[in-house]
Amino acid sequence: MPEAPKKFLNPTEDYNLQDKNNKILHFIEEVTKTPHEVQKRVLAEILTRNAHVEYLQRHGLNGHTDRDTFKKIMPVIKYEDIQSDINRIANGDTSHILCSKPISEFLTSSGTSGGERKLMPTIEEELERRSLLYSLLMPVMSQYVPGLDKGKGMYFLFIKSEAKTPGGLVARPVLTSYYKSSHFKQRPYDPYTNYTSPNETILCPDSYQSMYSQLLCGLCQNKEVLRVGAVFASGFIRAIRFLEKHWTILCKDIASGTLNPQITDPSVREAVMKILKPDPKLASFIEGECRKDSWHGIITRLWPNTKYVDVIVTGTMSQYIPTLDYYSNGLPLVCTMYASSECYFGVNLNPLCKPSEVSYTLIPTMGYFEFLPVQRNNGINTNPVSVRKSLNEKEQQELVDLADVKLGQEYELVVTTYAGLYRYRVGDVLRVASFKNKAPQFNFICRKNVVLSIDSDKTDEVELQNAVKNAVNHLVPFDATVTEYTSYADTTTIPGHYVLFWELGLNGTTPIPPSVFEDCCLTVEESLNSVYRQGRASDKSIGPLEIKIVETGTFDKLMDYAISLGASINQYKTPRCVKFAPIVELLTTRVVSNYYSPKCPKWVPGHKQWCNID
Ligand code: AMP
Repeated sequence: MPEAPKKFLNPTEDYNLQDKNNKILHFIEEVTKTPHEVQKRVLAEILTRNAHVEYLQRHGLNGHTDRDTFKKIMPVIKYEDIQSDINRIANGDTSHILCSKPISEFLTSSGTSGGERKLMPTIEEELERRSLLYSLLMPVMSQYVPGLDKGKGMYFLFIKSEAKTPGGLVARPVLTSYYKSSHFKQRPYDPYTNYTSPNETILCPDSYQSMYSQLLCGLCQNKEVLRVGAVFASGFIRAIRFLEKHWTILCKDIASGTLNPQITDPSVREAVMKILKPDPKLASFIEGECRKDSWHGIITRLWPNTKYVDVIVTGTMSQYIPTLDYYSNGLPLVCTMYASSECYFGVNLNPLCKPSEVSYTLIPTMGYFEFLPVQRNNGINTNPVSVRKSLNEKEQQELVDLADVKLGQEYELVVTTYAGLYRYRVGDVLRVASFKNKAPQFNFICRKNVVLSIDSDKTDEVELQNAVKNAVNHLVPFDATVTEYTSYADTTTIPGHYVLFWELGLNGTTPIPPSVFEDCCLTVEESLNSVYRQGRASDKSIGPLEIKIVETGTFDKLMDYAISLGASINQYKTPRCVKFAPIVELLTTRVVSNYYSPKCPKWVPGHKQWCNID
């Protein structure tokens, strides 16, 4: 199997950038020429080393390592199918349940089950696979933007809180795990991982101090910055918003070369003080730019050598493209990679393409990939297979291999990993856009069933329905009901927030006080999953939920409008989430009153029942 060039991963004394880039590009060439063979070997390797694990034995795989037997015998599964195995591991069972190597920690996915983050098992060596995927990004980028080794990247990177399972394993998001690992902290010198943010500022658990110090360091080194970014678009916009709020104190620190006393973390202070020098000229330049009425192009004004913005704007993040274009004055928006807690998947080999054309090449060494065909009709999933919980034997065998997917066809991604997931449905829908050599390149279409998302939160229709059901209890004393509702992710505010449009049925005569609707807002929030509540309460990446009451008859107008666009009268169902601008406009013009959640919903790190680290 083509190996990642070892030398690139462990740079030695004779540092030759071009040589290393070429080796990486050669690696990509090789694995994309033979995806079929590489995938066959990856699966055989995973099954050989895990031949004796309880899960494979339970299903009777009996040590077979070939694809046909694997596909015939092993079920295609969802999280709930292995939840009891996961719980055993979380509770301290160290026997080889899913994987022959010890589970080193759990990665907490932003996908939830029963309102809590899913727990993805991982093993130590997966860090190497993730590092490998990261190592591909800059050699690819450098083919299109030369000279990136001559300056720095200003990336806003953060860790999130972690918890311990009852059995003592750490549970945390995959990026927190990566930033805290030696692969990141002790990375050898590489001009491509030369960031304006010192590690200490990234690893600071206090989000205010982390953001403040990262922005301060980015501003101090503004001329050196060649690229800016964050993981997701929402995170980058949050940093700009933070600058809008705090530029006066940031400038004060830059002018005087002293650090705001709110930054109390000693390691952050020490790291920042190595960079911060009194620079009244820079401070007054920044102040002059920030004071202007318009923040159009603020990125290119403050960081004049920036060549692109590196953030994910595919999937639900596409809602932030207009805001990013505004702040960056139309700099290229670059989506470099596609990854998850389950497995890191692939990279964008044409990073300067338009966001709407981004496609990801799955790197065949990362795991074993299969594809469940999906048929969607006008964006609606019409394939009974993907709505049903489990697949029958024939359907399980119809999953397509990486090298066999068809151009233009949409598929749900199914993954088998080195860490012990076998034929696991990731829940993402991808479309084959093109091929690199023999390897398919996929557009990210959507995450199945998600109706609302602002940051990494993902709310599905059932969760929303349940939350609304809980909230309307507050209306019972007033003999009022919600006759129809829909929702909308409003990203015009920073941070964005969920909006619910409610039409009421009023039988009582007592007017409903605003505080009751505010209670409804809070109850909806309390009922949503823990990733949403963490976004609200801890990360502050989601704003207070809003309920907009619309005038009677609004949802009839919505139906009339949908029918005028060609919807069938008999089959019409109120959409539980709206995005299409004319529909949002139709609803918005009929709003009679609006209310916001008065406080943050409750959230604690980890699953409800665990003891927490912080
Ligand atoms: P998590 O498991 O919380 O790390 O989230 C992983 C999920 O984030 C994936 O399954 C996708 O739904 C989404 N995601 C990751 N990378 C991208 C990307 N480049 N474009 C769109 N969505 C992405």
